[in-house]
Amino acid sequence: MQDILERISDPEGSLAVLDPATGKTIAHVRTYAKGEVAGIIRQADEARGEWAARTAKERANLLRAWFNLITERKEALAQLMTAECGKPIAEARGEIAYGAAFVEWFAEEGKRAYGETIPTFASGKRLLTIKQPVGTCAAITPWNFPMAMITRKVGPALAAGCAIVVKPAEATPLSALALEHLAREAGIPAALFRVVPTNDPADVGRLFCSDPLIRKLSFTGSTAVGKILMEQAAQNVIKLSLELGGNAPFIVFDDADVDQAVEGALASKYRNSGQTCVCANRFLVQAGIHDAFVERLTKRVAELKVAPGVEEDSKIGPLINASGLGKAESLVRSALDAGAVARTGGARSPVGDNFYQPTVLTGVTADMEIAAAEIFGPVAPVIRFETEEEAIRVANGTPYGLAAYFYSRDLARAWRVMEALEFGMVAVNDGILSTEVAPFGGIKQSGLGREGSRHGLDEYLELKYCLIGGIDR
Ligand code: ADP
Repeated sequence: MQDILERISDPEGSLAVLDPATGKTIAHVRTYAKGEVAGIIRQADEARGEWAARTAKERANLLRAWFNLITERKEALAQLMTAECGKPIAEARGEIAYGAAFVEWFAEEGKRAYGETIPTFASGKRLLTIKQPVGTCAAITPWNFPMAMITRKVGPALAAGCAIVVKPAEATPLSALALEHLAREAGIPAALFRVVPTNDPADVGRLFCSDPLIRKLSFTGSTAVGKILMEQAAQNVIKLSLELGGNAPFIVFDDADVDQAVEGALASKYRNSGQTCVCANRFLVQAGIHDAFVERLTKRVAELKVAPGVEEDSKIGPLINASGLGKAESLVRSALDAGAVARTGGARSPVGDNFYQPTVLTGVTADMEIAAAEIFGPVAPVIRFETEEEAIRVANGTPYGLAAYFYSRDLARAWRVMEALEFGMVAVNDGILSTEVAPFGGIKQSGLGREGSRHGLDEYLELKYCLIGGIDR
């Protein structure tokens, strides 16, 4: 890790990167003011013509070289990620593999940006479509997946023939800078993919939306910031992809396999200490299975090891910072005040300042704040329900629509509920659904657009309709 860190950090830089497990400074990185970012956008825009003119295979070869370097440096990158965002090291290794997979996938998928021919409406005319890169793109990314949220944007952008400038989260610029460093080492022209850490995200966000050279902005983060960017993006009518907040229901029906449901619950809820936008946020459990599910879940959750992410057996690392901890803490307190019961956890952990105990709450009702807010902490609120209709009504009763999960062994119910849930992604009898081969994205206030799969490439391509006339002489 040390050799990469030396190359990407700058002791004189004004952005300090902290280890959330200890509060200690890991490194400083240089930041970019608005004027400098404008220059970088110009360079990116100048470089993209030559890049777009290369064949998809040539671009794929360079992306593949980048993928190989990421894979070779997996351990160092994972250590860097755990240091800056706190996630358990086993999960950091998982994210490097997952993030790299987007580069590999889009390297291949770039070769399949097919257009079409359209049966004509008039003899003497022929119709077709071609797909072309949208141009110079910008991306703003969050701290909870410091690497994969970048590759799922940069991979398709470069594969499609675009250039892209990325502003990483202030808490986690190191993984982003390491990716940029490896992309250069792989031979990807430097101007095509630039990372610009800043102390003033709002200012850079405004620049991304107002610079006439930017044709697309891809953002992953909170719904509040997504709305600001959507408004700002209106001025130049740029294309937008938004991956915003979620409030994922995790429904367990009476006919579920309770052991499978508990395994899925652990994977979905406690990954990254509950700090993912697809984390189960509310557990809806049917009356007949409620006590058995709660009992087994509580037992397993109480066994999760809370420890700094660098410890090999850590299962719950620190939350990202004091404000993340404060939010989880206050949501739990207000639920307890309103009558919920902590079956395990329910308080800070003595392991360190930013650590919270993995928690299971029962007696939660749909009107409590904890059932509406994105918790972003290792807390499972359990709501009891009686009927399928009630579960669907409660699950859909949110302005968010990112991921939903449910467990049932009844095939007819599985179809019914899968279709009735108003979410961009639904997992049946599973707790994890993210993969580079499937379209990730939300509906309602969870966002616009899809990342991963062939649909993720289309986000960086414009569809041009061409008509050729006068050919019947
Ligand atoms: P979180 O609460 O998870 O940090 P945010 O939406 O605040 O989520 O942050 C996600 C990304 O958005 C980060 O890179 C952050 O710097 C950036 N960001 C925050 N505020 C703004 C803004 N006003 N304009 C553009 N980007 C912003």
